[in-house]
Amino acid sequence: MTHNNLKDELLAAMKEAHTRFSGSEGGKNADYIPFLANVPSDLFGIAACLPDGDVLAVGDTDYRFGIESVSKVPTAILAMEQYSAGEVLDRIGADATGLPFNSIMAILLENDHPSTPLVNAGAISACSMIKPTGDADGKWKAIVGFIEGLCGSGVEVIDELYKSESETNFNNKSIAWLLKNYGRIYDDPDMSLDIYTRQCSIGITAKQLAVMAGTIAFGGSNPITCKHVFKPHLTPHIVSLMATVGFYENTGDWLFTTGLPAKSGVGGGIMGVIPGVVGIAAFAPPLDKAGNSVKAQNALKYITGKLGLNIFAPAGARQPVKAAKV
Ligand code: GLN
Repeated sequence: MTHNNLKDELLAAMKEAHTRFSGSEGGKNADYIPFLANVPSDLFGIAACLPDGDVLAVGDTDYRFGIESVSKVPTAILAMEQYSAGEVLDRIGADATGLPFNSIMAILLENDHPSTPLVNAGAISACSMIKPTGDADGKWKAIVGFIEGLCGSGVEVIDELYKSESETNFNNKSIAWLLKNYGRIYDDPDMSLDIYTRQCSIGITAKQLAVMAGTIAFGGSNPITCKHVFKPHLTPHIVSLMATVGFYENTGDWLFTTGLPAKSGVGGGIMGVIPGVVGIAAFAPPLDKAGNSVKAQNALKYITGKLGLNIFAPAGARQPVKAAKV
């Protein structure tokens, strides 16, 4: 598929997916974080970022929603950038838990590893690693600056979401202190958890997520600003983490069906990466039981299926595949 073909076919598939799924029912806004229950449920946007910096957008792609667990991706990259992929593997790990994102059982089972930076335990541990350690403001600036570098535009915390999440994150408090018990948190546990909660409360648009995905897909080079945000060899590491645990206990089914490494968040966003080809994102608040946006999954499944964008397909076989129907 030539680049221009990809652009046209992608936009057509995005429009079709939006029409096809915008009226569909299914799923429910997250409500364990009270703020999220009140986000309008019918918002629905799809965006994609191509290597030339073109951003394709359909629907509600300028609405700022809570990034939530998608934020685990930039922080994991930043930890690898500041230390090394090997050190993140040693200190956190890269094994899928097969369990819900906030599982305490997973920590007990793998007491010597939080297991992956893309579940709550590993993400809190990654926040604890971010330099400068011992300096909450410095860490926060490093994380926000990195996210802005990936998106090529500014982001801000949604204060009400941060408050709502801070008032109700009892389970995450237990995780932070359990990690301390196992020697798997590398800074003050309460401060590391607060950084994690703040990063989850960042407001982001589907367009910004698509550019973040594009920067990851294109080896750490932001296709809009043309700045090098992280070392190219980290792309396969982060994409492998997204592929193995991006949808928590549903990750295997997702990957089997789509071949799209992606990461979801309970704010309703999903960010997908096809290395070297495209970064793609979708947003719609109602979630399935594992905490993954129903419409965003359907849209990405439809689009990548239609275009044959599957990381496991032989390169020449990037054309419509039956797998999309599974
Ligand atoms: N901030 C949320 C939490 O810690 C993120 C969860 C998610 O998006 N899956 O519970």
